[in-house]
Amino acid sequence: MQYREPIITLGRVLAAEQRGGCKDQATAQGLDHFLADWQAAHGEALAEPAVRSALELLTDYRAQTLSARYTHIQRAITGLRALFRPAQQPTPSAALALEHEVAPRADAPSPPHTTQQADASPPPPKTRTRKPKTRTSAAPLDPKPAFDLELSDGLERVPGLSRTDINAFKRLGLRTVEDLLYHFPHRYDDFSQQQGIAHLVVGSSVTIVGEITDVQLRGGPRPRVEVVVSDESGSIKAVYFNQPWLMKQLTVGRMITLSGKVSTFNGLRQLTSPAWEPYMPDVESLHTGRLVPVHPLTKGLIERNARAAIKLVVDAVTPKVPDYLPAAVRTRRNLLPLGSALAQIHYPADAAQMQRARERLGFDEFLFIQLGVVQRKLLWQGELGYQLRFMPELHAELQQQLPFSLTAAQRRSLDEIFGDMAHPKPMARLLQGDVGSGKTVVAAAALLQAIGNGFQGALMAPTEILAEQHYKGLKQLLGRVAVPRSAAQASDENAWQAELDPEEAARLAEIKAILGMSEADDMEGKGVRVALLTGSLGARERRRVLEGIAKGDIDLVVGTHALITESVRFHALGLVVVDEQHRFGVEQRQRLRDKGFNPHLLVMTATPIPRTLTMTIYGDLDTSLLDELPPGRQAIRTRWVRKRERDKAYRHVRREVEKGRQVFVICPLVEESETLDLPSAEEMYEQLQGTIFPDLRVTLLHGRMLPREKDEVMVAFRERQYDILVATSVIEVGIDIPNASTIIIEGAERFGLAQLHQFRGRVGRGQHQSYCILISDKDDNEATKQRLEAMEASTDGFKLAEIDLNLRGPGEFFGTRQSGTPDLKIAGLTDTRLLHAAREEAVAILEADLQLAQAEHALLRQKVEAFWAEAAKAG
Ligand code: ADP
Ligand code: MG
Repeated sequence: MQYREPIITLGRVLAAEQRGGCKDQATAQGLDHFLADWQAAHGEALAEPAVRSALELLTDYRAQTLSARYTHIQRAITGLRALFRPAQQPTPSAALALEHEVAPRADAPSPPHTTQQADASPPPPKTRTRKPKTRTSAAPLDPKPAFDLELSDGLERVPGLSRTDINAFKRLGLRTVEDLLYHFPHRYDDFSQQQGIAHLVVGSSVTIVGEITDVQLRGGPRPRVEVVVSDESGSIKAVYFNQPWLMKQLTVGRMITLSGKVSTFNGLRQLTSPAWEPYMPDVESLHTGRLVPVHPLTKGLIERNARAAIKLVVDAVTPKVPDYLPAAVRTRRNLLPLGSALAQIHYPADAAQMQRARERLGFDEFLFIQLGVVQRKLLWQGELGYQLRFMPELHAELQQQLPFSLTAAQRRSLDEIFGDMAHPKPMARLLQGDVGSGKTVVAAAALLQAIGNGFQGALMAPTEILAEQHYKGLKQLLGRVAVPRSAAQASDENAWQAELDPEEAARLAEIKAILGMSEADDMEGKGVRVALLTGSLGARERRRVLEGIAKGDIDLVVGTHALITESVRFHALGLVVVDEQHRFGVEQRQRLRDKGFNPHLLVMTATPIPRTLTMTIYGDLDTSLLDELPPGRQAIRTRWVRKRERDKAYRHVRREVEKGRQVFVICPLVEESETLDLPSAEEMYEQLQGTIFPDLRVTLLHGRMLPREKDEVMVAFRERQYDILVATSVIEVGIDIPNASTIIIEGAERFGLAQLHQFRGRVGRGQHQSYCILISDKDDNEATKQRLEAMEASTDGFKLAEIDLNLRGPGEFFGTRQSGTPDLKIAGLTDTRLLHAAREEAVAILEADLQLAQAEHALLRQKVEAFWAEAAKAG
């Protein structure tokens, strides 16, 4: 054909004008002007009847009515198109086919992908009669129409889902319509901004509407269909590999919508396998031209099918999803109804609606958690506990014994604790304080009050070393404080002793001997009796200690998990303190509580946790905060150095040792690793002792040693028999060696911020200036860099924890998942506002209906129970 290019140009302008609503805005100076120019330049083209006819139809366009413009433009375009494809007509229905077609049903009310007139081309002379594809798997498996779906229906009932799709969904754990409804997109591609082709920027995600002006099938090992799509501003090539059948659907002259990412090939912009749909101005699009949801997929599941199936489900069931949230709460918090939120989370109308949907569903997640934890708290505290009278003289005596005065934060926390214990309901409190903030003495003061009131105390630590450390410290401190042995005997301090028969007296003497109490320690029987219960106790001693605990001769037991896993019976357990709580699960806590009748519970943690996480993991505890370090501490100086600078670090070590200080060296691995370029603890030990510091005393500690061996090493190091301790991460928690002034952390990139901060807390515990040296070459990794730089910049555990949470996400926050911690699909742990709102509402709901037994809470109760059952499974 002659004049091909000018005619295409003319056609494009007319198509653009039509798309623009025939408002005479497609060209700068109006269509009349354009046509006159065009005719002047390409007058010969009038030889083509279709061209002449088009110009005639559009004469004096500006003066034409809108409907006349529509009709004329349509006819003009049709005629011009005919010039390019005289024999061939597109079949809109074929072009509309999705990979898996749904056979249209006469009874179905316009579901999301029924056939529609696709574009402005004239109806083909004969539409191919549509029949279900021969692939039976694509046919609906159930005759039930889509709009009759129930939440509990199996996926087999979702029309249009093939067996393959259903199996793929099953692998994702999705079995029912409801499961699918809660299978939220993990991201959205923003194809909502439609753009002119000329303005497309490489690398951006775009949506364009245009006319197919050329289609080619190219052979080769990977046959590809190349489609040129044009709009008034320009053209772009779209390429599809291995889909030759697209030749039938993507025919020249069709108007289509494409969504995808702009790339380049040989310097030209191109779309590779963009999502496409026939351009249908009035029909909601699914895959293009909007915020397109991207759902988590699995092998064998095609995004397009998943999206179509989920859309069907969303349309069918969201209008009738019952909302479990009490209407009052919804109104008060201005939340979307559940159905709308579920619809909008999958297929948001726009970004604002998506945000509101996330808000509603995130609120629900927080609410379920808070209902669970607040209920647990209220139920515990609904039981009767011990009312422990505050004994000021005892507290004063303790303070007398301390070589320092309590910090304001310690006093404030103690006021809160004493206040709790004075009430006849069991305390459930978390004492949060950065490493070195002085939690132990707070625990000691609380324990002393319980003991003074005639009860026993228990303190649990995560390791034997820590238990032993606490035992020694507490024995020394509390052993020197006189307590009345029981409330009844308080009036006559010596009466109880006189009443003992000789057998009892002998038993007591033996226990005191086991506890290592001299006559002086015992203060004539009045000092607090502290026992250590660990695996290293001999059988006979152990039996004696257990007996002493059962009889009430022992006031305070310090131990590890063994305190709850074994059959320790208490005489009158009044207060339980759990140190370094994150090693203990919720269930263990409960078990310990079950042992005593209803003891008060104080949980201590040095893991600085952002407030939101506290309210989730420890939501059943009230919180006290030690936000102040004892005075006189010097900030630890932290440096990140590269491996080649180790020499400098070692020179520093030597200087410190010469001053009489001690040094920790932490290595991530115990043994040599073939794959990692990291020194193991063993290698490091060899190297330091053998080559670098042959004249210094170096020792080694790692997790594969027996507890007793570890103990021996720690004790020897504490007693300054060594200068340098090479250790794996077993050193992490609680160890208190004030003379250690430097910690070197090898392979620092392998540790999380929270853990690095814990390691660093091993130094700076005395009056010496302390140092932390992080060794890592990983400066190419952005996240690592940020972590190590954060360590250099801050010694504030809470600030570091926030940074860590942002860098790593809550799932990895602890390195491992907290047992029994629910998984959040939508809510972000940094969303404090939403969390607080949920907490408030949970408290309000439970105060009115603790068991969620009222009819209006029936649905909510089911949801909460299901949510926690899920969490228990996952944890
Ligand atoms: P953590 O909170 O990490 O368990 P510790 O209880 O082990 O901290 O206390 C760290 C060190 O600070 C201990 O040596 C302790 O004796 C000391 N300490 C605690 N409270 C004070 C205080 N108010 N003033 C001075 N030193 C204190
Ligand atoms: Mg501690």
